[in-house]
Amino acid sequence: MARYTGPSCRQCRREGVKLYLKGERCYSPKCAVERRKSAPGQHGSARRKPTQYAIQLREKQKLKRIYGLTEKQFKLTFVKAEKFKGVVGENFLSLLERRLDNVIYRLGFTESRKQARQLVSHGHVQINGRKVDIPSYLTRPGEEVGIKENSREIPYVKEGMEKSTAKVVPVWLALDPAQMKAKVMAIPAPTDFADIQVDEKLVVEFYSR
Ligand code: SF4
Repeated sequence: MARYTGPSCRQCRREGVKLYLKGERCYSPKCAVERRKSAPGQHGSARRKPTQYAIQLREKQKLKRIYGLTEKQFKLTFVKAEKFKGVVGENFLSLLERRLDNVIYRLGFTESRKQARQLVSHGHVQINGRKVDIPSYLTRPGEEVGIKENSREIPYVKEGMEKSTAKVVPVWLALDPAQMKAKVMAIPAPTDFADIQVDEKLVVEFYSR
């Protein structure tokens, strides 16, 4: 299925929680979830007892929407996570965190993951000094991620830096803000993505049916 291109806030309203897809606006009273509690659509306010399948599906959709992936990309990442040793759900989240677009967002170079994906695919990001324009690129410990020198003055890059809401840089990334680059120090651990309010066990159950 193609990538969702509709309004971001509609996705939060569908899930009934804030997914923080828009940066600054998500922290303001203008947030659509704050203003309208019901799900979008004609039957949005209808109340039904959800089945176990529906609970698992909603949790999966929530996580997919937070990282802005298509179903195909999301499922492929899950399959990859199953091949690693350890807890599948944690491996899955760790792989999602290591994506280049997520790293750019976590470093505070952009307001949202959507904007980070654009920054990467427009060729403004480098790994170890070489351009990488693949948002799904999996970063590894020891690599240096940065914004290209002549891209640092682009208005939306500067604005993203100023408006950035991802102010707390996770410990697995060592940021040098003056140089607009960071070193990947380790593989992200569960404490590094504790802010992702999704029960990953339900996502694992969804794909293990
Ligand atoms: Fe979601 Fe942000 Fe829109 Fe609120 S403002 S509904 S958190 S995308």
